[in-house]
Amino acid sequence: MDKTIVFYCILFILIGEFILATVMNYLNAKRFKDPIPAEVADVFNAEEYKKSQAYKLTNYKFGIFTSVFSLLLILAFLLFGGFAWVDHVAQNQSDNTIIQALIFFGIIMIGSDILNLPFSYYQTFVIEEKFGFNKTTTTTFFIDKLKQWLMTIIVGGLILSLVIWFFQWAGTNFWLYTWAVVTVFILFMNLFYSKLIVPLFNKQQPLEAGSLKSKIESYAAEVGFDLKNIFVINGSKRSTKANAYFSGFGKEKRVTLYDTLINDLEEEEIVAVLAHEIGHYKRKHIIYNLAASVLLTGVMLLILSLFINNPEVSLAIGVDRPSFHAALIGFGILYSPISEITGLLMNHFSRKFEYEADDYAKHTYAALPLVASLKKLSKNSLSNLTPHPAYVFMHYSHPPLIDRIRNLKA
Ligand SMILES: [Zn+2]
Repeated sequence: MDKTIVFYCILFILIGEFILATVMNYLNAKRFKDPIPAEVADVFNAEEYKKSQAYKLTNYKFGIFTSVFSLLLILAFLLFGGFAWVDHVAQNQSDNTIIQALIFFGIIMIGSDILNLPFSYYQTFVIEEKFGFNKTTTTTFFIDKLKQWLMTIIVGGLILSLVIWFFQWAGTNFWLYTWAVVTVFILFMNLFYSKLIVPLFNKQQPLEAGSLKSKIESYAAEVGFDLKNIFVINGSKRSTKANAYFSGFGKEKRVTLYDTLINDLEEEEIVAVLAHEIGHYKRKHIIYNLAASVLLTGVMLLILSLFINNPEVSLAIGVDRPSFHAALIGFGILYSPISEITGLLMNHFSRKFEYEADDYAKHTYAALPLVASLKKLSKNSLSNLTPHPAYVFMHYSHPPLIDRIRNLKA
């Protein structure tokens, strides 16, 4: 393999993915003005519908702008020796390969995040603000960023150091040890994310005693679900958009409801949302998702181990000496078409799981309150009621509203 061929593969992948994403966005945007299907005609009134169209269009245009910027940035970095420059900086700081890798990735990740900062600032304080979603302050916004960086530096730094240490110690078998560590990490995060990470960003409290809690408890008892942890999180600190999610398993399983969800929905509708979340657990979706991410990580690491000793993978990104960290960047881009495909599969199963969870709520509770809650949630987030099927196939982890309603009413 020649490094020039690998270099052209990298360019081809970056530009190909950009074109594919742009075409998908364009197809989707062409449907923004489609007539709304009868089943969901009552989601918006005329004025809200206009607002939702404006919201979709604004995000579409902004998306074109940011994706062009990202593509140009990485192409410029590749073509004008950006990676070689960062690699030199890292080499000048230390002779230790682990420290060099930490500096290399630290500069690239923090640097690209800083370059993207104006875009996420604009998204939050101009677009979300204009459409009435934003509740966050600039202080919260920047403190969030700092916390995210700190977490990335600590967790990412630790994992990266371990991987390189495994590589130095076990050669290409490093992937097996890395896989074991990452698997433990994935399981640990699923169990304790809500306890350890969420409190860094949000306040959460057990759901207060009252009619909602007793309705939820009587439903949970009816379906034989041992639910001790129902938490309410202050999502309203950042956005008016509402959500609910399930996490953990065994004793650590918990349902988290956004305060915005509790404000927006009637009690029956909240119980229906909860029934849907419990459906995910009862149908073992949590376990399947965990197993899938562990498996996909293993496949990726195995393929990485086959590529890591090819100096061309490093040299193709423009550095002048091969290294583990440079090879990781090259591999990351070369692997992205595969991760696009596994992403499609994951989305496919995720949409299937959504129907199953909806069915569970329909059979053990009722369909109509869930329909009502889905409509309200769509209305309050100005969501797209007429997405293009190809776009749904590629990007949607949840089926479009209309399909979920048809399934619930069937
Ligand atoms: Zn769901």
